[in-house]
Amino acid sequence: MRDENCIFCKIIAGEIPSKTIYEDEDFKVILDANPASKGHALILPKEHFANIYEISEEMLSKAARLAKRLAEHMTKVLECDGLNLLQNNGEVAGQTVFHFHMHLIPRYEGMKNKDLLNWTHEDFTEEEQEEICQKLRNC
Ligand code: 5GP
Ligand code: ZN
Repeated sequence: MRDENCIFCKIIAGEIPSKTIYEDEDFKVILDANPASKGHALILPKEHFANIYEISEEMLSKAARLAKRLAEHMTKVLECDGLNLLQNNGEVAGQTVFHFHMHLIPRYEGMKNKDLLNWTHEDFTEEEQEEICQKLRNC
């Protein structure tokens, strides 16, 4: 349920202050303390799941529905021009807090941090792509 060493569990319990923008029985949504843009928010399930591998399908579905509602609301209220929904799993993927969360990052035309998600592409041959494709089928 809760991890005693987890900073997001402490935020959810109100032991560490946060700028809360939404709360219900399953989620708390807070502003990110180091925002990538104006309104950068984090959807936190109240139950402690480390990542996408641990979270239940039910909670993930609820988080996705909430993300849609928030995205629409944020876009209207903040008048942003787009929005990134981002969710990191594992240190190698950039996860720094090991309590499942979704980032909602409003994007604005001409914003300072416009390159925040830019990556360079890797090259794979047609054969390699086919092999990867075969491996990934049959989910
Ligand atoms: P991750 O890199 O794990 O996907 O994202 C963790 C996010 O949590 C980071 O963007 C970081 O700024 C934010 N964060 C870390 N500690 C705190 C905190 O104590 N309060 C708030 N509001 N955000 C935090
Ligand atoms: Zn936690």
